[in-house]
Amino acid sequence: MSEVKIAFLGATDTVTGSRFLISSEQSKILVDCGLFQGVKSVQRRNWDPLAVDAKEIDAVVLTHAHLDHSGYLPALVKQGFYKEIYGTRYTNDITKIILRDSARLQMDDAKFAAKKGYSSHKDPKALYNLDDAEKAIDHLRERPFHSREQIAPDAFVTFYPSGHILGSSFVVVEVAGKKFLFTSDLGRNNHPLLSNPDAPPKEEFDVVVTESTYGDRVHETPPETFAKEINDAIARGGAILIPAFAVDRTEVILMALKELILTKKIPEIPIYADSPMALSALNLYREAISARSVEIRSGVSDRFANEDPFDAGALHQMATTEESKAINEINTSAIIISASGMATGGRVVHHLANMLPNSKNTVILVGYQAVGTRGRFLDDGAKEIKIHGELIPVNAHITNVECFSVHADSDELITWLKQVKRPKKAYVVHGEVEGQEHMQERLTNELGWSVVIPKSNQTFSV
Ligand SMILES: [Zn+2]
Repeated sequence: MSEVKIAFLGATDTVTGSRFLISSEQSKILVDCGLFQGVKSVQRRNWDPLAVDAKEIDAVVLTHAHLDHSGYLPALVKQGFYKEIYGTRYTNDITKIILRDSARLQMDDAKFAAKKGYSSHKDPKALYNLDDAEKAIDHLRERPFHSREQIAPDAFVTFYPSGHILGSSFVVVEVAGKKFLFTSDLGRNNHPLLSNPDAPPKEEFDVVVTESTYGDRVHETPPETFAKEINDAIARGGAILIPAFAVDRTEVILMALKELILTKKIPEIPIYADSPMALSALNLYREAISARSVEIRSGVSDRFANEDPFDAGALHQMATTEESKAINEINTSAIIISASGMATGGRVVHHLANMLPNSKNTVILVGYQAVGTRGRFLDDGAKEIKIHGELIPVNAHITNVECFSVHADSDELITWLKQVKRPKKAYVVHGEVEGQEHMQERLTNELGWSVVIPKSNQTFSV
């Protein structure tokens, strides 16, 4: 039998840049093709040459649409990758939205940096442009859940719903007879719209690759905190800004707000969904709900057969830049939900610049904030943050409500992985050092697994 290898091209000492390469004599399969995000030194890694010739890759398997799993695809195609990218229906639909948005952001940032002259580069360039994104989109191929699909002469993939975002999957990849299980980002059992993650398949795996985003943490914030923070801000006469990932987090938050309004736990104040990407994603979720997709939790499609799951009557969907700017003029209490979730870019950055100096306002962080992002600085209590080259004072009230996390925590990951037969080797990725080490320790001690934390670009024989 030919030698099979796995190489870790990203998401090794960080939660971003998921890229894993499986190679045999006959084929090279790339699992996820994500962008590095966060601190400058991590972002810069997007410019490093890929450790494999893009032209030699036979297929890409896409576990879900999030940028840190899909955002390098246009760069890969630009480097000559010409074959197919496999994902589930909604992964592909959401990836289209995300890649176009990412291309626009990169082009804007490069333009802005050139204009303001704050970039360390003489002539700041975008990693890829809209045209490159469209080319990558042309390579997307849809595959159903629960079906073993051939993707290369000696390679197969099976997608299973993972309850993280619409379309998301954990995958089983088989190459030259070796079996790999990638958890990718695993969801939880309490998503208001999505079904619980499937149980792992009963078969035996040579390799398990697991995420560890919250590998050293257990989600603890009680759900009441959310309503209390909103009511406190309203009592101060302030507005509430929620930086949220455009896909999924915005949906979950809008549903929670609708519920709080209907049960009169918060007053009916205007809610602005201010991210064009979020609005497109909202429509895909609405479509999946009415199509009764297997990914939608049972009962949800019936309950929302005749009503919008995201709107209690106070929702304003801001599509244009003019509408977005008009929010700045509003002087009553309101809730603004805007992307990106870690405030690395997008309209939320302008809202932060506008709202942070005022101590009446509240910023509610609702998800994982990677090291080096503005979201993380706020979470860590920064007194001022840099926005577009200027220092903005942080006088607003900052809080983090973790109950909206769409990542399994340490206990939830272990409970899920416990159902997997002991693999020959497990690799812990997609976490910060503490999260990875804690997961390694738990998998070793509680499950008796042989566990490695791979280093960047490290390759292992399987
Ligand atoms: Zn994700």
